[in-house]
Amino acid sequence: MEVRIVHILLDKPVSNSGRLKTLIAEVGENSSFNLDIQIINDVDKVLGEKENVITSDSIILDHCKSWINLIRGCMETRELRIIKIQAHPCGWADYNERNKIYHDTEWGIPVHDDKKMFEHLMLECMQCGLSWDLMLKKREVFRSCFDDFNYDKIADYDENDIQRILETEDMIKSPRKIAAVINNAKCFQKVREEFGSFCEYMWSYSENKVILYNGHCKVGSKIPVSNGLSKTISKDLKKRGFKYVGEVTIYSHLQACGIVNDHDETCPCYAKINQENTTVNKRRDKEVY
Ligand SMILES: [Zn+2]
Repeated sequence: MEVRIVHILLDKPVSNSGRLKTLIAEVGENSSFNLDIQIINDVDKVLGEKENVITSDSIILDHCKSWINLIRGCMETRELRIIKIQAHPCGWADYNERNKIYHDTEWGIPVHDDKKMFEHLMLECMQCGLSWDLMLKKREVFRSCFDDFNYDKIADYDENDIQRILETEDMIKSPRKIAAVINNAKCFQKVREEFGSFCEYMWSYSENKVILYNGHCKVGSKIPVSNGLSKTISKDLKKRGFKYVGEVTIYSHLQACGIVNDHDETCPCYAKINQENTTVNKRRDKEVY
């Protein structure tokens, strides 16, 4: 039987390319085709004017089935030799459908509602040592455990509530983190009393503007996990009694609630957020307070 090669080109490394390789290898086993996956930086240059190229804009893990079908189709028609996969500009959004929806509908969109901001901040606090995907997966469990993140109700929780939450199915089994959420709800109330709202307090650090860091991640460059600004806020929140609010956690929170726009410059969300909000350009490394 004739053996042909289907080339699969990824335009940049993506978090789930390993998983994709495994799945594709499984398809390859039962066919007369060899499958080859390459990760190269400039796919277009390599491809040039080549024909028989199909492009997909995403390789979300949850959609791997459709990928497999696409590849099977390529094998059957014996026409298509190259599949070009364009990874998501914000690579992590490709991980699965849950991440993609979160990326598209929440991440980096400025939050000006205290309840929403409390939920964001508490998800970040509880993430410590766990994956963000797990936080998104368990979000409904968290909401049902913590009265839909109503900080006033949570601030009144007692030992019985900690026990109730610990016994909830699928809830994370960390008494320390649950106690921290209750503690943080109390601290959150105090900040609200002092500043009028917690959002007012958080946004005062950027003078109500969305921060764009100069030299913002050119495609492929890495975004640091913390900076001077997150360090300053972390320090202040700790002073106010908050728990699990290290500088890395706070940097994530700044990104999530839109105080910093860290979408990749080529991501459609980057431009959309900048159009709809007042922005300020800063240098990430100069953020020392
Ligand atoms: Zn993005």
